[in-house]
Amino acid sequence: MPRSPQRSLVPGLLLASLALAAAPPVLAADAGAPISLTVDASDAPRKILHARMAIPAGPGAVTLVYPKWIPGEHGPTGPIAELAGIKMTAAGRPVAWQRDPVDMYALHAEVPAGASSLDVAVDYLLPAVPEGFTSGASASAQLVVVSWNEILLYPQGRPADDVTFAATLRLPPGWKYGTALPVARASGETIEFKPASLVTLIDSPVIAGAHFRTLPLNPGKSPSHVIDMAADSEAALAIAPEHAAAYARLVDEAYALFGARHYQGYHFLLALSDHVAHFGLEHHESSDNRVPERTLLDDAPRRKHADLLSHEFVHSWNGKYRRPAGLATPDYQVPMKSDLLWVYEGLTQYLGYVLAARSGLSTVEDSRAELARVAAYLDVRPGRTWRPLADTAVAAQILYDAPDAWASWRRRVDFYDESTLIWLEADVIIRGQSNGRKSLDDFCRRFHGAPGGPAGVKTYTFDDVVRTLNEVEPYDWKTFFVTRLTSTAPHAPLGGIENGGWRLAYGEAQSDHLKAIEQADGEIDLTYSLGLTVKEKVSALGLTLEEDGTLKDVLPGKPAAEAGAGPGMRIVAVNGRRWSKDVLHEAIAAARTSSEPLELILENSEFFKTCRINYHEGEKYPRLERDPSRPDLLTEILKPIAPKVPAAAKGTKPAS
Ligand SMILES: [Zn+2]
Repeated sequence: MPRSPQRSLVPGLLLASLALAAAPPVLAADAGAPISLTVDASDAPRKILHARMAIPAGPGAVTLVYPKWIPGEHGPTGPIAELAGIKMTAAGRPVAWQRDPVDMYALHAEVPAGASSLDVAVDYLLPAVPEGFTSGASASAQLVVVSWNEILLYPQGRPADDVTFAATLRLPPGWKYGTALPVARASGETIEFKPASLVTLIDSPVIAGAHFRTLPLNPGKSPSHVIDMAADSEAALAIAPEHAAAYARLVDEAYALFGARHYQGYHFLLALSDHVAHFGLEHHESSDNRVPERTLLDDAPRRKHADLLSHEFVHSWNGKYRRPAGLATPDYQVPMKSDLLWVYEGLTQYLGYVLAARSGLSTVEDSRAELARVAAYLDVRPGRTWRPLADTAVAAQILYDAPDAWASWRRRVDFYDESTLIWLEADVIIRGQSNGRKSLDDFCRRFHGAPGGPAGVKTYTFDDVVRTLNEVEPYDWKTFFVTRLTSTAPHAPLGGIENGGWRLAYGEAQSDHLKAIEQADGEIDLTYSLGLTVKEKVSALGLTLEEDGTLKDVLPGKPAAEAGAGPGMRIVAVNGRRWSKDVLHEAIAAARTSSEPLELILENSEFFKTCRINYHEGEKYPRLERDPSRPDLLTEILKPIAPKVPAAAKGTKPAS
């Protein structure tokens, strides 16, 4: 469906746009004429995309830029190093270009007299590394996700909303595709899109593949919601009817939560492959979700990724429509300020978690186990004693890719999970203070809801969040957030769990949810016993190669660290026997009744050492325990709120 070219801009953003518009003109003859962009993805299985652009331009100096700050990635992650084969011509003659010596993302050229257009050819070298976000692996032999920002240049100095692209995409023979980008016409493997602003283009990636299926979630209804899935096999597309029905309920539960929509149709793009990077990236009318090939078939990856699509879907409201002012930049070169990511990502993490439970993508039991997992790891992270949560948001651009080693001391992008605890606490406070008449749902309707309509951006500040919360339920919300954001206390904020009727507790039994996460991650989590996490298997490109045993992280102050273990060391033997997952678990259990230390032989860059760990308390795993002295608000929060419609009347026949 076409998107309105009009975007609502708040004054701050408008001023920034005007400032850019007032910059010296760099293109004389172009005005609003669209840039034509033809991307040939027929070589995607060989990990290369080819593109040609015709950029309307009069004679004179021109600077073209490559998108640097990528929305949703909150950092300067545009993969400029992968741009190759850059050739420029005008009126059929070669045009020399020079890279700016300071800004690697800017290319300068001179359009000769008599020319009215600068023609640019570029290739994008699709990375094979299955890590990172969109700049990670995006193609396999069977599928590709085309992120337009990776395969285009645009004239410097104009707001991205004012630059129009007319894009055409060519796919490998027989491949099918899905995207939120409005299509003008398609014939065979060539798709011609309607002219769209640069913002809409970059906001609308295309998924395509040899094994492809579109799953309608609300057939016959408007706006339409679909899952466009591409997989490395036909078998991987076979979503079970009950899971398809849960995704259909996600659409209803999100609408019931927010009370309005800010899109004209929504596409969940779902790549199922072990050969692409695994993550989710939000867009206004779609989301780019990439998971292992068997996620729809196998229990462990399905449970691990249960709230991925719900998280990305929430972003259409929280992140795309309502956006922190510092993240609403006029183009892709202006640096972003990410201090409010505890709202943008943190509230999304909480709502994605809640909606997964309300729609049945996650069971209530799994949801409780997940909350215990999150609360427990944050509660023992020693890094919280020096780095306040606020700094994890401000420093997001350097923390997303931070290594696993010493993660507990460095902290990572904790503004996701820790904000789940904080927003849960806010929800519980509203429910408690209002005697159950109000909840955070009321905040969402007020902040993210009506009036609905086509995609637009409405920015906000910290004060807007506080003011809206006060309109819902008066409380000292400013102090509430400032305290939690600036705290360097040694423990996590558990008020939401505790006042929600539950307690964080530890026991020897590991919940099925935690087992599923461990299995999906290929990791052994001994955080609460020895104080370390172990890579179970060496894997590359999705293939398991051998038993690993590398210590992913070691928690300062815990028994393993006290005994001299460090991240990156590899377990060779446990109590004199060659290591395996079972041998390690059995040794921890046996140490309960032994006075001898648990002995690990560790390899550290070709050298071996023996670590004697004095730990005798057995396995420990987190769980939530009911506190009968308080009302069970957590269970209340996780209950569905969408009106129940009889299946026959609803007409959603999932998964055919
Ligand atoms: Zn997110």
